[in-house]
Amino acid sequence: MNDQSGTFPPPQRRRDLIVVRASGDRGPPLVDAFQRRITYLRLSVTDRCDLRCAYCMPEAMQFLPKAEVLTLEELYQLATGFIARGVTKLRITGGEPLVRRDIMDLFTALGRRLGHDLQELTLTTNGTQLARHADALARAGVKRVNVSLDTLDRERFAALTRRDCLPQVLDGIAAAKAAGLKVKLNAVALKGVNEEELPDLIAWGHGQGHDVTLIEVMPLGDVEEERLDQYLPLDSVRSALAERWTLRDIPLSTGGPARYVEVGETGGRLGFITPHTGNFCAGCNRLRVTATGQLYPCLGGGERVDLRAALRSDDPERNLALGLQEALAIKPEKHHFRMDARGADPAVARHMSTTGG
Ligand code: SAM
Ligand code: SF4
Repeated sequence: MNDQSGTFPPPQRRRDLIVVRASGDRGPPLVDAFQRRITYLRLSVTDRCDLRCAYCMPEAMQFLPKAEVLTLEELYQLATGFIARGVTKLRITGGEPLVRRDIMDLFTALGRRLGHDLQELTLTTNGTQLARHADALARAGVKRVNVSLDTLDRERFAALTRRDCLPQVLDGIAAAKAAGLKVKLNAVALKGVNEEELPDLIAWGHGQGHDVTLIEVMPLGDVEEERLDQYLPLDSVRSALAERWTLRDIPLSTGGPARYVEVGETGGRLGFITPHTGNFCAGCNRLRVTATGQLYPCLGGGERVDLRAALRSDDPERNLALGLQEALAIKPEKHHFRMDARGADPAVARHMSTTGG
């Protein structure tokens, strides 16, 4: 059997588990009603997390019963179904993906598709578990990881994430670099929290050789704080940075919504993800699937297709195809986020950690 056979899990690791085999058939490419071609899947492998970032979830976040979450075999089967329809880039996310038991088995199995029908396998992580997984990720074929880091100040980190884990995260980032992984740092820009620190955070990241991307906070799920108090528009951040540094627009695209500049003084690249101050939906090339197999065609919408039911049906291949067809038909033209009303209900009830960031 050759490397792209679609066998999971790696037979030498988990002989006792079922083996899922890809049919090898390729279906038609995924194109939505607005002629956007879908080539990118963000697959959440857990809704659980070892941090509690104040903008992401409440301290007393209710996690899903484990029985509702897809098994690693099902996640692999699902990814295989998307790859067969032309998805070439796969990002594993969560919750915190590296807290999921045996998650490296999934990376190893998916990594076998690289160079065949999968071009890129990546990860978004908070970095707390990265030090112990960085080498294995690199061995699996992962080349790039996104690490979320909103502050370099230990106390601020502990207050923001409600866990005192900054040293662990910095170790993780260093381990990823040492393993040869390209690291991109993602920071949510938060009014009055890391606002003043952003230039230092960017300069530090660039000094370490990492790209940095800033993100506008989005009204996803209830959190303890008022969203509007957290919101820092990135157009104003960019203007402030432009007074300090020379910012040159560059055409870099990493397949996501970020617009990039090069910072003359640091020599590094800085991205801006601006759901509010610069809509990017026209170029959307992605779908998202939660750890329970719910496909959300848009992060900012309630449209949903239940792929777990399809996977667990007596004709998974056919029902998966029907589910994808439905998702393409209902993928909205744009997200429905608004960030202008104090005390408003979240635009979308589910948290970012549920959909997969
Ligand atoms: N736990 C991993 C992490 O933090 O990187 C992966 C999942 S997390 C939900 C993915 C990304 O979503 C992180 O960069 C996080 O900062 C961001 N995020 C979470 N809630 C957000 C929100 N309400 N608005 C904007 N970004 C958010
Ligand atoms: Fe966890 Fe990531 Fe959400 Fe922070 S942003 S609570 S690390 S899922």
